[in-house]
Amino acid sequence: MGFFDKLFKRNKDQEEQKAVLDEGLKQTKENFFSKISKAIAGKSEVDEEVLDNLEEALITADVGLDTTVTIIKNIEARVAKDKYINTGELNNILQEEIANILTDSSSTDYKTYGTPLDKKPYVILVVGVNGVGKTTTIGKLAYNFKKNGKSVLLGAADTFRAAAVDQLSIWSDRVGVPIVKKEMGSDPSSVAYDTIVSGIARDVDVIIIDTAGRLHNKAHLMEELSKIKRSIGKNMENAPHEVMLVLDGSTGQNALEQAKHFTAATEVTSLAITKLDGTAKGGVVLAIANQFKIPVKYIGVGERMEDLQVFNKYEFVDTLFSLQ
Ligand code: GDP
Ligand code: MG
Repeated sequence: MGFFDKLFKRNKDQEEQKAVLDEGLKQTKENFFSKISKAIAGKSEVDEEVLDNLEEALITADVGLDTTVTIIKNIEARVAKDKYINTGELNNILQEEIANILTDSSSTDYKTYGTPLDKKPYVILVVGVNGVGKTTTIGKLAYNFKKNGKSVLLGAADTFRAAAVDQLSIWSDRVGVPIVKKEMGSDPSSVAYDTIVSGIARDVDVIIIDTAGRLHNKAHLMEELSKIKRSIGKNMENAPHEVMLVLDGSTGQNALEQAKHFTAATEVTSLAITKLDGTAKGGVVLAIANQFKIPVKYIGVGERMEDLQVFNKYEFVDTLFSLQ
């Protein structure tokens, strides 16, 4: 049983999710754990050497310099206050301090799948570099919304490659949700526009719009995304309600860099971090959830529809620290 377990009463569905998370984060857990246990091996007390080792362990586990420094500072302050802290207690303190500095979605609620659905249709624009998992994440989101009783419409505004439209169409068939698409090379803004018109006419709960991830230069990206946003806003005031940036967690510090670029180029209101399965670099989630005051809403831990989870910082930290 993990340290935060006492906070949760999981239902069956959540127990299953926790098992998927455990499995998905396996490599990160092993990496994280072996580094942290090495950092404190043979020590009975938290002294400067333990803190130095811990700092190095966190940095090499992809937690990133800034976030690591914050964690270490907070632990130092606690050690100074509580005087004698042994390394056994350090484990729990570390979990608490890590969870404390992470931003998660305050609206996180499994029933609405992490999204406040008081606006109808609720419009999500999905952005991010090519290959990070945008289209896959949209498919998984659609599946989860549908499973939670919400009607969904997809918009294929990544019109640069025929394969991109096809890929979203496959997800639309697989999940059983409608899609608005045009031929390759169409203006992405016009696809976005039509998707909103259609979504309002069909009275759907959620609209999710895919975009191309070409990051030629900041000005170009900004211009294109602004144009898409304006087209969305033409038929629905205040939409898009959410601009979700998708990041590939398996790229470690690169994901952090991409988050910096994108948030500087356009207003991002939520984050999804994918491909945390099959990587040991999942520590980057801690860096991202600390350094951007934008909530991490979802994490991807596999390629199946079921493998997208609402991010809960306590569950995440708990999983990182529990070795079966
Ligand atoms: P896009 O270019 O941003 O739309 O990225 P795609 O959705 O096409 O995804 C690129 C690749 O990453 C595909 O092969 C996906 O199956 C894979 N992928 C996406 N999310 C995950 C994930 O959470 N775990 C794993 N293992 N693969 C993923
Ligand atoms: Mg795509």
